[in-house]
Amino acid sequence: MNPLIVDANAVGAGVKHATLDVIGSGPRAIAGVLEKRGVEAHIKTAEEALKRTENFSGCDLLLVSGMTSDLPAVKRLVSKWRKHSKGLVLVGGPISSNPRDALVKAGGDIAVIGEAEETLIELIDTRVLESESPLKESLKNIRGVSYLENGSLKINDLRPVMKRTVYDGFTPSTKVIREYPRYYASRVYVEVVRGCSNYLRAKLNSDSTCAKCRRCVEGDFEERFYCPLGLQPGCGYCSVPSLFGPPRSRSVSKISLEIDELLSEGVRRIVLSAPDFLDYGRDVLVEPEPLTNPRQPEPNYELIEGLLSALTSIEAFSKGEASLIVENLKATLVTERAAKLLGKFLAGTPVNIGFETGSEEHGRMIGRSSTPRETLKAISRLKKAGLKPYVYFIHGLPGQTRRTAVESVKSIKESIRVGAERIILYRFQPLPMSAFSDHPPGHPAAKNLSSRMIFEASRRANMRMKEALVGKIIRVVVSEHYKRDPRKYIAYPMLHGPVVLLEAVEGLERRILDAKIVSVISDRMVKAIPLKESF
Ligand code: SF4
Repeated sequence: MNPLIVDANAVGAGVKHATLDVIGSGPRAIAGVLEKRGVEAHIKTAEEALKRTENFSGCDLLLVSGMTSDLPAVKRLVSKWRKHSKGLVLVGGPISSNPRDALVKAGGDIAVIGEAEETLIELIDTRVLESESPLKESLKNIRGVSYLENGSLKINDLRPVMKRTVYDGFTPSTKVIREYPRYYASRVYVEVVRGCSNYLRAKLNSDSTCAKCRRCVEGDFEERFYCPLGLQPGCGYCSVPSLFGPPRSRSVSKISLEIDELLSEGVRRIVLSAPDFLDYGRDVLVEPEPLTNPRQPEPNYELIEGLLSALTSIEAFSKGEASLIVENLKATLVTERAAKLLGKFLAGTPVNIGFETGSEEHGRMIGRSSTPRETLKAISRLKKAGLKPYVYFIHGLPGQTRRTAVESVKSIKESIRVGAERIILYRFQPLPMSAFSDHPPGHPAAKNLSSRMIFEASRRANMRMKEALVGKIIRVVVSEHYKRDPRKYIAYPMLHGPVVLLEAVEGLERRILDAKIVSVISDRMVKAIPLKESF
């Protein structure tokens, strides 16, 4: 078997326009499963795989990972593959949560839904992947897959989520990281927690869709897991709990080993990836119950301290040759003690925290676990602890009205006042297997007054904060020539922040250096000059 994994995450139609410096953990996890079975795996980005010069020579199995919005690129990839190979196409990642997209629209042979590791092992062990035409008899018995049989879509039962110890037994590949262009300057995501603890339900149409049994609000861990009406758990715009279940944490030794190996491959920026980093180790406190309460118990301070202490003592981090940041936090778990603990190890680094809507009532209707007041408190605590809170909002959500938009605008301003350093705004897109999967996408901000209000408030806030950066010195890693003006270079801040356009640094590609910000180009990019004494 000669598989090729193609990372199509966030490429849309085939070209990445934003977050060019992000390498997610999913494709490496798949490569790790293949390596575990003695199969050598290779990864290409969708942009490379779609190049005219690529003909998939020597490959007989295509594994594509993509998000829902990447359907156009996945479709192009599969179509190109079919011209060069008779090998099977497996589609995984969030796009597979709608098997019709993965199989009928994109043209894949097998869609892998939810956690892929055990499913892939079963597909390998039953030798299904060695056949050019999948053996329907074998596929019938494999949970977590979907496929076409005589033109009709078959969706097998989902696989139960893996127990923590089983999940921890898998090891993502680290050697494939060098197959990513710009791996040396990218934010490389290392999964530390999988799954989400918010098992509240979105109740937009509460009269018709909720029996008001209050199990998901007041029940014990097991009770919260099941809604008698089968409503999808979690925030209505998110499919993490439906797809990946409650949180499970990886062991400190596994995470440390993976990061050590990535650093020795030349990676400089590590992101500890989790739907909520503060869920790390909370699952251990309630085992064998599923962690379905986003508030109780409080964070597992001892395990978090153990993890951060082990990681920050790695020489590359302590010497400033590499950076370590955590991804997302839920406001419900940002206690005073949690904020101080994060500040002790990660001061000066950004942390993302979801606000999404400024309206308390709207927040409850869409299944949010924290209120606006709690989120503001969390931002303030994180800021005081020395972190840089980045705050998410979403416009165009189901239930958005002029009133909720006014409250969101107010909350954006309040977030900045109490310490937010950036507002990250998304437009609502319905995700398969989420409570809002049947809702239409949000209107573009230009076409909806309420969305435009939120969009403008966040744009203004970000521009003001970028302007405040002028004159500041930041540490960056130089990535590549700027396509629009090859005399300049693209660089990325070691601790995250705006993309940096660097003047005249010929020969310094891949180097880490200090640069002085001289102007703001857009709300995503600043211009800087390198400081000679730093290289
Ligand atoms: S468990 Fe289901 S029916 Fe019960 S309160 Fe929650 S959403 Fe309503």
